[in-house]
Amino acid sequence: MQKRILITGAAGFLGSHLCDKFIKEEYHVIAMDNLITGDLKNIEHLFHLPNFEFYHHDVTKFVHVAGKLDYILHFASPASPIDYLKIPIQTLKVGSLGTHNLLGLAKEKNARILIASTSEIYGDPLIHPQTEDYFGNVNTIGPRGVYDEAKRFQESITMAYHRFHGLETRIVRIFNTYGPRMRLNDGRVIPAFIGQALRGEDLTIFGDGSQTRSFCYVSDQVDGIYKLLLSDYSLPVNIGNPHEITIKDFAEEIISLTNSDQKVTYKELPQNDPLQRQPDITLAKKILGWEPKVSRSEGMKLTLEYFKSLSQEELFKKEHKDFKKHIVK
Ligand code: UDP
Repeated sequence: MQKRILITGAAGFLGSHLCDKFIKEEYHVIAMDNLITGDLKNIEHLFHLPNFEFYHHDVTKFVHVAGKLDYILHFASPASPIDYLKIPIQTLKVGSLGTHNLLGLAKEKNARILIASTSEIYGDPLIHPQTEDYFGNVNTIGPRGVYDEAKRFQESITMAYHRFHGLETRIVRIFNTYGPRMRLNDGRVIPAFIGQALRGEDLTIFGDGSQTRSFCYVSDQVDGIYKLLLSDYSLPVNIGNPHEITIKDFAEEIISLTNSDQKVTYKELPQNDPLQRQPDITLAKKILGWEPKVSRSEGMKLTLEYFKSLSQEELFKKEHKDFKKHIVK
């Protein structure tokens, strides 16, 4: 019998790539999104398929899906620092109330649920690289706290449903991931730098650029999530690419990749911006037999092709949309 999977945040960057993956694996995909940060153009190529359905719904409200469900992937959430600064309450609600609704649905349907957590639960980490047993260093009341704490609560409630109700749960801690369909103006460093280079602007480095990140190409991330969902491991697992780089060196890489002669300019480092981030993926290697395959140069080439294919209008658009108009009260 065909497996049925509900994917929330389906019109977003990761959600849409997950829809593609499960369609390719011949699942029946039920996609859900409230379209605050997501965009239908990421999934419109799937609309004609008989095994794909889309529901425009906000998961912070009661979630109903007719028929059986085998799996749920909860990927609905703003996921860039700019987004959660603009819509902090919605960010808290989707991680907390939204997760509660989806756990309830999973219990009702006897479905296995995988929750998208994040390296942000480690905050500005005091151990390096980050292993799953590190508890983190998060400022609860800082600007990033709305995201970090929602995601930490999300992990807690998921483990409570697992332990108390015996629900089958999986938790992926996603480290910085990039690729086609990232939003050009979501403020994250990769679309920000590529957009600036393509528009002929200077690249803006926050702080002195000595902070590090480790970037994972989207196909590797999707592969890791897929393997985790089908595994029997219910504690959190880091999925990311351990290849670490400073933001300053990364800016130079983008300048040379785009053959632009742009300069870099420096801006103030945002509050609580983690100074270093690198996943320890020993656990994922051991229990999933997973590790990233796509090098940064390969992944960045594919990503650049995508951004180059956007229209001039999209390239120069400053705002994605007026978020507030799309929030259901
Ligand atoms: N960053 C930057 N210039 C930009 C956007 C981001 O220097 O135009 C820095 C940011 O301060 C952070 C890193 O790049 O140290 C990664 O930022 P991003 O927003 O992509 O994700 P984060 O890992 O902080 O969630």
